[in-house]
Amino acid sequence: QWIFLSGEFVQKNEAKISVYDHGFLYGDGVFEGIRAYNGNIYRLNEHLVRLYESAKSIMLDIPYDFENMKELIAETVRKNGLRDAYVRVVVSRGVGNLGLDPKSCGTAQVVVIAEELALFPKELYETGLEIVSVATRRNRPDVLSPKVKSLNYLNNILVKMEANLANVPEALMMNNEGYVAEGSGDNIFLVKDKVLYTPPGYVGALEGITREAIIEIAEEEGYTIKEEPFTRHDVYVADEVFLTGTAAEVIAVVKVDGRVINDGMPGPETAYITRCFREKVATDGMQ
Ligand code: PLP
Repeated sequence: QWIFLSGEFVQKNEAKISVYDHGFLYGDGVFEGIRAYNGNIYRLNEHLVRLYESAKSIMLDIPYDFENMKELIAETVRKNGLRDAYVRVVVSRGVGNLGLDPKSCGTAQVVVIAEELALFPKELYETGLEIVSVATRRNRPDVLSPKVKSLNYLNNILVKMEANLANVPEALMMNNEGYVAEGSGDNIFLVKDKVLYTPPGYVGALEGITREAIIEIAEEEGYTIKEEPFTRHDVYVADEVFLTGTAAEVIAVVKVDGRVINDGMPGPETAYITRCFREKVATDGMQ
């Protein structure tokens, strides 16, 4: 497996970074998760816009321009002989001294990893997930916007750990007001009386690229979509619930905090939207 690191491709077992890299010391950096379907990189522009905007927000200079970065990502997928892949792009502040100050760091470190990945076991895409809501809150948007995909994912990791403790594969995070924000690394949608609901960005959800794709598909298919805050109660009484994300793709949720959603089976609208999404990703990409 070839990994792009420090300007060259190296084998996985040689892909090592310094313990003085501020990405390691402080989580100082940004990242993206991108998918390739059938050799096409899905919505690469959107992912790179988010990467460069995240970097700008934390004053991190990515040492490649947008077009070079596109080529690098495509090359990483090609070099590994992959058609369907999950691509992780990490840009860290780079190697510095032990102080917090990023001024001590040289150029940013860019890593690109491509591999096959299914976030959840295959059967869960058929049966749907059981999830719980957890105590960990989405970090507040007034200091560091949730739009920044930074390397500080501790909140999200705590959400995953709370899911593990409850023996379920994923969990839901609220914001400080108690409105539902999102999963550990995925957005949430509800279907109620044929209307689709998803929390707006200001609630604290990352406005995911898969979320955006689902909104577009739903609009094309004539659904009404409402981006508005909702609480756990609304989740419990929804007709259908599903999660979306680059890693998770689209997956139904059939039980939340012990409340069975509808009849406990993935619902027909979720199935239909998932089918449309699958058709789209096969043709929507670029490479
Ligand atoms: N929410 C969080 C916190 C994430 O990290 C991600 C993954 O990128 C998502 C939602 C889903 O976003 P996307 O569909 O762009 O992958």
